[in-house]
Amino acid sequence: MIDLVREKLAKTGADALLITQPANVRYLSGFGTPEDGRVFVTEDQALLITDGRYIAQAKEQSSLEQDIVAMGSQWPARVLELAKGKTLAVEADHLTHAQFDLFAKDLKLVPVESFLTEFRLIKQPHEIQLISEAAKLTDEAFSHILNVIKVGMKEVEVALELERFMRTGGADSVAFPITVASGYRSSMPHGTASGKVIEAGDLVTLDFGAKIQGYHSDMTRTLAMGTISEDEEKMYAAVLEAQETALAAIGPEKDGREIDRIARDILGEHDLDQYFSHSLGHGVGMMIHEEPWLRSNMSYILKAGMTATIEPGAYIPGKYGVRIEDLLVITSTTKHVLSSSDKSLIRL
Ligand code: ZN
Ligand code: ZN
Repeated sequence: MIDLVREKLAKTGADALLITQPANVRYLSGFGTPEDGRVFVTEDQALLITDGRYIAQAKEQSSLEQDIVAMGSQWPARVLELAKGKTLAVEADHLTHAQFDLFAKDLKLVPVESFLTEFRLIKQPHEIQLISEAAKLTDEAFSHILNVIKVGMKEVEVALELERFMRTGGADSVAFPITVASGYRSSMPHGTASGKVIEAGDLVTLDFGAKIQGYHSDMTRTLAMGTISEDEEKMYAAVLEAQETALAAIGPEKDGREIDRIARDILGEHDLDQYFSHSLGHGVGMMIHEEPWLRSNMSYILKAGMTATIEPGAYIPGKYGVRIEDLLVITSTTKHVLSSSDKSLIRL
């Protein structure tokens, strides 16, 4: 990987590269606390810069040579020292303005954007393995919560139980703040679990995932607490139809925009497209939202090794909403769906 990075670096005209964005630091170094790490690459060096708290951890996790400094105050000075006389490529989409100014006083800088995206976009087998493990744990947590969730519980209690299950099952953490959105709150696409009590007749949207060794999973299911209205039933059926049709259509060489269109058109047939207020899906990897994007306003040709979610939804403000989301990996001939939880309407 570092050799490929060096090849790309040479094309920028720089002869040193500083990686500061945490997911990128972790991707190149394997270091599990990337917020406290930087990666510095030249033709003959590849260093993980971190501090004394992490000597043992960095040694265990990283294949890069380690350079230990006091991260809080000294890392910029160390970079200036290492890069002396060189042209340094920096991540313009992450380095702060103040850091940029500091480096620019003594070094020639080449700002680069999304420098590692082309590598991170195509997942290697070990990455797919970890994302699959995270997706499996997410499915298991969903099965578990079906036995736990009850009318009278607070949304936040459901979220904490999902988290407890996934953490004790081996997750480093949850992939993102868990959505448990019940009743009128199900109309909020990102309704992070609140103190609201789940009531009979509520639709409940659960959107959650696990993070394992830096890799995320992402899945959404919407449940019915007992009997729901006919309109809610119809919305569920329409969102499911949109989800399954888009899922059937996705594969290598397909354009993400076309897949988004397929789902949007089906919701349109049910007069629900005006309530589908976000894009159809996104890639998942070291970040919960990353390329590729499945969006109406962006063409994106899908390739083997890319991940994607398919997550159509419909939300009537202040009333109710439904979203159904699966995570998949594109293969050379088709796709492999990593989420396996039941998508038919579950009434509890
Ligand atoms: Zn999600
Ligand atoms: Zn998602």
